[in-house]
Amino acid sequence: LILTCTLLFSQNKTALYKNRTAPIEERIADLLQVMTLEEKILQMNQWAYGKNDNPNNYESKIKDLNPNIGSLIYRSTDPKYRNFIQKKAMEESRLGIPIIFGFDVVHGYRTIFPIPLAQACSWNTALVKKSCEIAAKEAWLTGIDWTFSPMVDVARDPRWGRVSESYGEDPYANSVFGVAAIEGYQGHKLSEKFTIAACLKHYVGYSLSEGGRDYHYSDVSSQTLWETFMPPFEAGIKAGAATVMSGFNDISGIPASANHYTLTEILKDRWGHDGFVVSDWGSIKNLIYQGVARNPKEAALKAFLSGVDMDMVDDLYYDNLPTLVAEGKITEQQIDDTVKRILRLKFRLGLFDQPYVDELDEKERYLQPEDLLTAKALAAESMVLLKNKNELLPIKSHYKNIAIIGPMVKDSIHIMGFWEGKGRPEDVETIHDGLIKEFGTQLNLHYAKGSDFDGNDTSGFKKARQAANKSDAIIVFLGEKRDWSGENGSRSTISLPKIQEQLVLELKKTGKPLILVLSSGRPLELFRLHHEADAIIEMWQPGTTGGSAISGILSGRINPSGKLAITFPQTTGQIPMTYNMRPSAVPKSGHYQDIPAEPLYWMGHGLSYTTFDYSPIKLSSTTLKKQDTLIAQIEITNKGDRAGKEAVLWYISDPVANISRPVKELKYFEKKNIEKGETTLYRFEIQPHRDLSYVDGNGKRHLETGEYFVMVEDQKVSFKIVE
Ligand code: BGC
Repeated sequence: LILTCTLLFSQNKTALYKNRTAPIEERIADLLQVMTLEEKILQMNQWAYGKNDNPNNYESKIKDLNPNIGSLIYRSTDPKYRNFIQKKAMEESRLGIPIIFGFDVVHGYRTIFPIPLAQACSWNTALVKKSCEIAAKEAWLTGIDWTFSPMVDVARDPRWGRVSESYGEDPYANSVFGVAAIEGYQGHKLSEKFTIAACLKHYVGYSLSEGGRDYHYSDVSSQTLWETFMPPFEAGIKAGAATVMSGFNDISGIPASANHYTLTEILKDRWGHDGFVVSDWGSIKNLIYQGVARNPKEAALKAFLSGVDMDMVDDLYYDNLPTLVAEGKITEQQIDDTVKRILRLKFRLGLFDQPYVDELDEKERYLQPEDLLTAKALAAESMVLLKNKNELLPIKSHYKNIAIIGPMVKDSIHIMGFWEGKGRPEDVETIHDGLIKEFGTQLNLHYAKGSDFDGNDTSGFKKARQAANKSDAIIVFLGEKRDWSGENGSRSTISLPKIQEQLVLELKKTGKPLILVLSSGRPLELFRLHHEADAIIEMWQPGTTGGSAISGILSGRINPSGKLAITFPQTTGQIPMTYNMRPSAVPKSGHYQDIPAEPLYWMGHGLSYTTFDYSPIKLSSTTLKKQDTLIAQIEITNKGDRAGKEAVLWYISDPVANISRPVKELKYFEKKNIEKGETTLYRFEIQPHRDLSYVDGNGKRHLETGEYFVMVEDQKVSFKIVE
């Protein structure tokens, strides 16, 4: 008896897994050997908790909580409640295994940054990384250990609402910004303070959901899978993303959450991912609707055997894995491999050693002044000046009266976009607030709402016209509501509702200069409005500090520097339309008879208040071998009257290969500030194996000899790869 007691005691107090100085793999092995099958399976489940903020009675809220649960989606902002739950896990579970708390921190936690699509338009990776550091800090201080972000599903169809969560239409841009986000969230080491684990999602091919309809299947060829959708995931895994989420979609018949090829053969075996895969919300149960599982048990079996490690909210693992093990369909060894992955992250995060968080006051946790400055900078750099006829913008200093019209002016909800975290309308600087601060003393601002976002009530038009008639220029602020994009935010048309277009036409009748400011989560169909507006700015959904950023651009305090990360098609019917399409069989064909062949704005379009003069591209050589490096450079001179930031997008084109290559592909970008009158050098170091090779439908890279082009803006220079 004494011996048993001593053993038990030593297991609890001095067990190796509790020793913070022991190597993580040894701690995992030590813990696994004392876990029961039930305890292991509980680690593989995630429940959603804490929907209501500041619960008065913590105990009643968690009466059905099993302290052995692996993970919770934590929706409260109260760190005390989080600690209360964690204490249950630490003290009431047999082995004291901490819970990992996850939440969708997508573009900010309480300080809300622009939506990811907007962030990409900044082409400023340092700022994007910084915004994720801030988001991680605010979330960490709340007790969040893990975010379901970044989403690196390359945008293909703007009808699909989730393009707002992506970094645009280019695979390289999604890779670079995805990596910046991971580095921002995860920092140098996950056990350090202010860092949280990232989750690459939604693996893979989700953005090709047929017809842009959310949750639909993706009919994706293996070539497109590897060329377009895999690269950002591969880059994210290389950058050390802690986890991956398996998508809702099926990939040409095999659902992403039951796909052994993508989850196990590629992700875990080929790329060596040693973190874990969490299903998307209900994506295991969905296997039944998708017609690959007869019942919940079969769904659990398929998901598990394909490589899904954690079941998000379905309880299918919880309900079915014990039987599946008993029946010998799953071995305990297989369960161990999965549980190891989950425990590994918990050890890496330091949760065993430091399970609790400080219970700081909200004021110390959120919305710090320096963080709001970062939010302002990112919002400003995300906005894209699409059109500026006769340099109407910035607002002229001799103007005395400006009409500010539209449903966006006083909005404090839609401006935050979808997945607004724990952002609150009362924290938001509205466009109205921003304009008053910016122009209040020098201009008369005449506000009228004009119309709502949708519907057919034109009764506000009269007041809008009156405001316009009093003014030197009209600024109309239109756009989308927050849930017109984001999850389940598909739209059959990407045009603005008729009422908003009518409002513009009505105001145009006054003959005053008209500036259109758009806030949306996707590119919009603008062909009916484009000619009516003298200037157009896409401000996206810029978050907490959006009002200040757009006002600064309108006044000229900020020189716009955003460039589109996604193409604006002429019409919805022109979709899909991306810059990196493959060449057509008949040159200059592929157009529709009723609209121009080109989109309205290609990815990369964006104007500035200054003029940047590009020198011709210079190459260090025109012939090179596969292992050589080629330096391409250009000089850019700021010829205008103010400083500005210029993003240079470097493209490669491979005109002849064994597989038809996209007409051009983004391979590098860089943004720099250039003072007025100054000249700055931009340099792209071309490494053939990295930048000129292509991937085939099996994920194998090929580098061919022959002619290539390097391209910047409208320049195109040829060089050759020789044996
Ligand atoms: C979404 C994911 C999200 C998850 C958890 C799902 O419905 O597709 O992107 O991370 O819910 O909230």
